Amino acid sequence: MGAGIDKITTIGVVGAGQMGSGIAQVAAQAGYRVLLRDVSEALVDRGVAGIDRNLARAVEKGKLQADDRAATLGRIGKTTQLEDLGAAELVVEAITENIDLKKEVFKALDKAAGPETILATNTSSLPVTEIGAVTGRPDRVIGMHFFNPVPVMKLVEVVRGLATSDETFETVRSLAGKMGKTPVTVRDFPGFVANRILLPMLNEAVFCLMEGVSSAEDIDTVMKLGANHPMGPLELADFIGLDTCLFVMEALYEGLGDPKYRPCPLLRKMVQAGWLGRKTGRGFYQY
Ligand code: NAD
Repeated sequence: MGAGIDKITTIGVVGAGQMGSGIAQVAAQAGYRVLLRDVSEALVDRGVAGIDRNLARAVEKGKLQADDRAATLGRIGKTTQLEDLGAAELVVEAITENIDLKKEVFKALDKAAGPETILATNTSSLPVTEIGAVTGRPDRVIGMHFFNPVPVMKLVEVVRGLATSDETFETVRSLAGKMGKTPVTVRDFPGFVANRILLPMLNEAVFCLMEGVSSAEDIDTVMKLGANHPMGPLELADFIGLDTCLFVMEALYEGLGDPKYRPCPLLRKMVQAGWLGRKTGRGFYQY
């Protein structure tokens, strides 16, 4: 028997960045004990400070009781030692999107974690199967793809690697539900579903701009008013980060081997210029 949903009381989170801290927050709000790990105390503290700010805002808006804010924070433990995550029945990895770094972390987690522990990755574009294969428990490795910002976005793509067991899958699906999310089932193919559909759409908008079909503003207006999208594709690409957009397009292009996923040369050029969108103050728009 593996770790069923009823056996999970403590969730480890590796990486206290944007996504890791969001995942730690929703897990703690759902009543789980959380152990949050990053490579330095300063980074873990920054993650927890971000969670506290989010919770404080929720209290101000009347969406959370002040007592619940304190109780949620009280359930989050901090560590810089990966070995401490041995206490968790499930660990979600949310470190930098780099296959070699992730493999190192999964090898170390495989050693530190109890034999029943499920190891999940929040990767947006790397193969879950390849990450699972470096462990001695590929049946207990799975993708748990949350969306940014985690406390707001309802979706989790539950990604089954080739070796992921039915039991692991069922446990993680139930867990996503307990965290207030809507899980969907996805097989381990590049981009899963959300990014496989979204990123080529953004890339196509960059082609429209490069070919002079329309201006950036007009391309965004078309998709907002013509397709009812809340943000235009170029505005959204700037928000996501043009380097991240290029990285995902490369993963689709290489992983699926189909020229229809060719990254737009203008997207590549903008990344070369260091115009990465909002985070650098310049992308398709100036900020
Ligand atoms: P981020 O840069 O905000 O955070 C990554 C954190 O991981 C950093 O704090 C870094 O110090 C830490 N880290 C690196 N190596 C570590 C290690 N060995 N042990 C512990 N911590 C380590 O990145 P992010 O945006 O939170 O993305 C994290 C993951 O989530 C990536 O795999 C990314 O693809 C995925 N993701 C991101 C988004 C998004 O919109 N940002 C959405 C879905 C999934």
